Amino acid sequence: MNFIADFHLHSKYSRSTSKQMDLENIYQYGKIKGIQVIGTGDFTHPAWFSELKEKLEPCENGLFALKPAIAKKINKKLPAIIRKQKLRFILTAEISNIYSKAGQVRKMHNLIIAPDFKTVAKINTKLSSIGNLSSDGRPILGLDSKKLLQITYQANQRAFFIPAHIWTPWFSMFGSKSGFDTIEQAFDQETPKITAIETGLSSDPYMNWRLSQLKHISIISNSDAHSPLKLGREANLFNCPLDYDQIIQALQTNDQRLVGTIEFFPQEGKYHYDGHRSCNICFSSVQTKKHQGVCPVCQRPVVVGVDNRVNELADHPPTYQPKNHKKVEYIIPLLEIIAELNQVKTIGKKVLEQYQNLYSNLGSEFAILRQVPIDQIKAAGFQTLAAGIERLRLGKVSIQPGYDGVYGIIKVFANNKQLKSSTGQASLL
Ligand SMILES: [Zn+2]
Ligand SMILES: [Zn+2]
Ligand SMILES: [Zn+2]
Repeated sequence: MNFIADFHLHSKYSRSTSKQMDLENIYQYGKIKGIQVIGTGDFTHPAWFSELKEKLEPCENGLFALKPAIAKKINKKLPAIIRKQKLRFILTAEISNIYSKAGQVRKMHNLIIAPDFKTVAKINTKLSSIGNLSSDGRPILGLDSKKLLQITYQANQRAFFIPAHIWTPWFSMFGSKSGFDTIEQAFDQETPKITAIETGLSSDPYMNWRLSQLKHISIISNSDAHSPLKLGREANLFNCPLDYDQIIQALQTNDQRLVGTIEFFPQEGKYHYDGHRSCNICFSSVQTKKHQGVCPVCQRPVVVGVDNRVNELADHPPTYQPKNHKKVEYIIPLLEIIAELNQVKTIGKKVLEQYQNLYSNLGSEFAILRQVPIDQIKAAGFQTLAAGIERLRLGKVSIQPGYDGVYGIIKVFANNKQLKSSTGQASLL
């Protein structure tokens, strides 16, 4: 079967995470988004792990379901069109590894996936002898990433280890500030065990494929959500039975069971391009090179973004595409599209009401963005939105890249004129 999976998110026990990130809300919003397999996040946290054991029960091999009594209550709140979708949990956690290697301080985030509570308990026991697991849902450990990988596979050969958002400047495997240049530098003799990496919001599979060292690696994308509405902002497409070992084998072999990813436009990430926020300078890597890395306004070095770092490590040109590559689908979160059509910057009450109206009538967010026929969206009375989603599906979006901490702006209509002319009227609903 075809399904969508999002492995990386955080519970209410992680720092700067919404209080609403409990299992009930993750279940509810996972269904609204149209996700079938969702990470629990934070399984290293003692209180969260207790909650997982209390509220989840084993279902298909290595996957978990919310206990029926709890699920029933939430399903009552959901519109019929969404209620019957399956949603399974998979045990996941993220560790922040800070350590020194080869004379430098390294900061890396890593994801772990586990098949059962017993494995989680083993990993947690081991890690709690190294650092404090209860201070943060994403604990900071003074532990080499390679050692964390070894602990993971010693706990269970069926567990799985993935370097997270590998381009983030400060906390990742290839990060420009405290990362490495190759997988080997980070993992030495354990390198063959790295068979998947997470792109993070500021990079996409095409950027990653420019590195021949990632040629045989599964490229995955997750939301890293800190609040329910951000679930699934990036995700993975699978075609296999709902089964833990099938999912992991797909990530080990990069075979056809991993169909591809659903991506944020990488330019929307806040460190995509180079520049200076205060000088209003936003440079592509080519422009940065032309200016020898110096800001023409203040004469200081520009802040180097992910795109430039990819260029540094890539051995293929920006236009490179591997043969028979996996599917890459770009989306703009539906709430952002609705906000754009309402010409507002924030997701307020009105936008949320329209969002609810949409998924109640047409199905999950992923269905609306990716599958529901445009004519059907129109027929349901959402004329302008239908035009916007058609533009998104055709890739006709307006892109303003993020830089130096400024989020990029992706719009389905370049300007108001285009918006109005698309339907002859400016009202969304
Ligand atoms: Zn992280
Ligand atoms: Zn995270
Ligand atoms: Zn400047």
